[in-house]
Amino acid sequence: MHIVILGAGFGGITVYHHLREWIDGAHVKVTVIDERETFLVKPSLPEVAFGLKGIGHITFSLRETVGRSADFIHSRIVRMDPDARMIEVEGAQIFYDVLVIALGATKEWGQVSGFTRHGSSVCTEVLAPRLYERIQNFEGGTIFVGSAPTPTGTRLPDVPVIEAACEGPVGEVAFLADHWLRKQGKRDDAKIVCYTPGSIFFDDVGDNVHKAFNQIAGDHQIEVMTNKVIRHIESDRVSFADGSSYEAALTVLVPTYSGPQVVKEAGLTDEAGFVPTDEDFRHLDYDNIFAVGDIATRAVPKLGHLAVLQAMRVASVLKRDVTHHGVIAPYHPEVFCIMNMGAKALLIRSNVLYGGDLDQAYYGGLSHTLKTLFDEYTVRFRGKMPPDVTQRLLNAYLDKVAVRESSLV
Ligand SMILES: Cc1cc2nc3c(=O)[nH]c(=O)nc-3n(C[C@H](O)[C@H](O)[C@H](O)COP(=O)(O)OP(=O)(O)OC[C@H]3O[C@@H](n4cnc5c(N)ncnc54)[C@H](O)[C@@H]3O)c2cc1C
Repeated sequence: MHIVILGAGFGGITVYHHLREWIDGAHVKVTVIDERETFLVKPSLPEVAFGLKGIGHITFSLRETVGRSADFIHSRIVRMDPDARMIEVEGAQIFYDVLVIALGATKEWGQVSGFTRHGSSVCTEVLAPRLYERIQNFEGGTIFVGSAPTPTGTRLPDVPVIEAACEGPVGEVAFLADHWLRKQGKRDDAKIVCYTPGSIFFDDVGDNVHKAFNQIAGDHQIEVMTNKVIRHIESDRVSFADGSSYEAALTVLVPTYSGPQVVKEAGLTDEAGFVPTDEDFRHLDYDNIFAVGDIATRAVPKLGHLAVLQAMRVASVLKRDVTHHGVIAPYHPEVFCIMNMGAKALLIRSNVLYGGDLDQAYYGGLSHTLKTLFDEYTVRFRGKMPPDVTQRLLNAYLDKVAVRESSLV
C-alpha cells in the first residue's frame, strides 16, 4: 500500500505525524511531496511584518522531519491523473493507492490590479518582510487592511458560506500596526481602517466575539468598513467595486483564495476551485482520494486549526481502512485563533458558524502567552501538534477560569 501526501503544510504534516504512529509493520509506504524545503508557520507571518520575528524563526526543514519515516520528494506537482492513480512531479511519475491532497490554497494576487507594484500583504515569506520595510518608512496617512472575497462551492450544501477566506490576519495586522506606530510615537499621524467584502467583519463568528472585537478596535481607534470589495491599488489610493476610492498610504491585502491550478486541471475541484469531500474528507468522486486544509471545500474559514482537525480525522480513517483497528477521530469544527495585538492578544473560540453556541473571546496577556507558545511549539516539535489532552485541558480552563479575562472586553 502506497500513501502519497501532497503538501506538507499544517494539513499534510499532521497526516504524516499521525500515520507514522502505526505504519511500521503495516506494510504501508508513505511519500510526502512538497515544492518547499521548509515548513512555514504562517500564523507567525504578521509578527514578521512588524519585526517581531525573522523568517528563520518560523521555518523548519521538511526533509529532516519527514525523512524519518517516509520518502520526502522536494518537487512541484505538475500533473495529476486520478483515474490512473498517478502524480507527475518534475521529471517523474509516482503511482499511489491512496492520495491525500493538502496543497493549501493559491493566492489570486492578479485579481486586484496594482497589487504587485503598490500592495502589501503578510501571506507569504516574501511579502511579510517587505511590509516591515514599508512600515519602517511610513510617514503618515491611512493604512487600509482587508480581504478580497473568496467564493465557496455549491456541491456541499451543508458547508457554511462566508465572504472572505480568513479575516484573523486582517485584525492582527491592524492591531500590530497600531502597537508598532504607538511605540514609534507615530500613531497620531496614522488612521487604520479594516475593510471587508462582507456585511459584517468576521462573519465566521458570533455576536459575543463581534462585541469584544468592536470594543477593543474602538479603544485602539481602528475603524471598520463593510461591503468593500477591493479592485485596485495605487501608490497613494485604494479603490473598491462600489465606486468608492480613498487616499491610502499603505494597502494591505489578504487576497482571494482558490485551489492550485494542477488540482483544478485534474477535474478534482468544484466551481470555486476547492476539493469537495464527504465528512471523512474523502473525495466525492474518488474513494481513494482525500483532501484536507485550505484546499478542501469543507475548510471554512481557511484556518490551520481546521486543517489539523481534518488531517487527524483522515489519518484515523486510513488507519481503520488499512489495519481495521482504531477509532475515527471526531471532527467538531470551530474557529479557534489567537490575534496578536502586540502586548496582549485576543483568543477566539466560536462554533456558531456550524450551528453551535460556543462564542467566546479572551483578551489579555494570557492569550498573548498562548499564541507565543503555540507558534513556538509548532517549530520546536516540527509540526506535531500538542497532544489532544492539552487542547481539552485548555478548553476546560478557558470555559471556567479564564472567563475573568473575557470580562475585560
Ligand atoms: C498571514 C496568515 C496568518 C494566519 N494565522 C492563522 C492563525 O493564527 N491560526 C490559524 O489556525 N490559521 C491561521 N492561518 C491560516 C493557516 O496558515 C492555513 O489555514 C494553513 O496553513 C492551511 O494549511 P494547509 O496544509 O491546508 O496549507 P499550507 O499550509 O498552505 O500548505 C500547503 C503546502 O503545499 C505545498 N504546495 C502547494 N502547491 C504545490 C505544488 N504544486 N507542488 C508541490 N507542493 C505544493 C506548499 O509548498 C505548502 O507547503 C493564517 C494564514 C495566513 C496567510
